[in-house]
Amino acid sequence: MPLKDFLGVPRLDRAKRVLCVQPHPDDNELGAGGTIAWLASLDIEIVYLTVTDGSIGTQDPSISPERLAETRRGEAERSARHLGASQLLWLGYRDGDVPEERELTARIMGVIRQVKPDAVLVPDPWLPYEAHRDHRLTGLATAAACILGGFPHARSGPEAPPHSVPMVGFYCTTRPNTWINVDATWSRKMEAVRMHASQFPEGWAMISMYLDMKAREFAQGRGFTRAEALKVLPTILLHFNVDSEGY
Ligand SMILES: [Zn+2]
Repeated sequence: MPLKDFLGVPRLDRAKRVLCVQPHPDDNELGAGGTIAWLASLDIEIVYLTVTDGSIGTQDPSISPERLAETRRGEAERSARHLGASQLLWLGYRDGDVPEERELTARIMGVIRQVKPDAVLVPDPWLPYEAHRDHRLTGLATAAACILGGFPHARSGPEAPPHSVPMVGFYCTTRPNTWINVDATWSRKMEAVRMHASQFPEGWAMISMYLDMKAREFAQGRGFTRAEALKVLPTILLHFNVDSEGY
């Protein structure tokens, strides 16, 4: 019997509190904005954790990294609140410069132990061709923090009592097992994405068209118009398990 039939794919809407971890200030909206707005509409508490300050996210050399970080913090606050987030936490690393995995795992574990989420969302670090170190390391460190957070002797920064996270949802994934109907929350997601105005100095039509096209593709044959695709795993499958890839 396949493990999936036995354990089942965890349902995000069973959570009471969801921690949405993003490497940069706009990743949650782009990858899972419709899902986050849907969860918030069910009175599920949404907490954001942003790992870096987004300070290199421009091609305009006249904008200083410090000014850009400040602008992006404001954009992220408005955007996350628009989707229904009640709390925004920041690790404050410089964009493009997250620390090595062990330090990052300890920091994220510290947040998990304080926030005590029932589910965690994060970009899939096993996305083939993902070249951005911030994304790979944030995904890996978050997955590791979810596994280790429940072990009292595992070190976190700051130290806090252990907390086990039952499920992790990876967005921007090529191996989805969950398709969330975002028809009702699509316009809210797109408004939230557009609030990151510094990221779309031009080309909004192209990005909105692409997001719309992908959402329609994910929804095909499922009885709704637009979907976001995630890989949701029981945390226990994030270590030493051969069924996780096809789960
Ligand atoms: Zn990013």
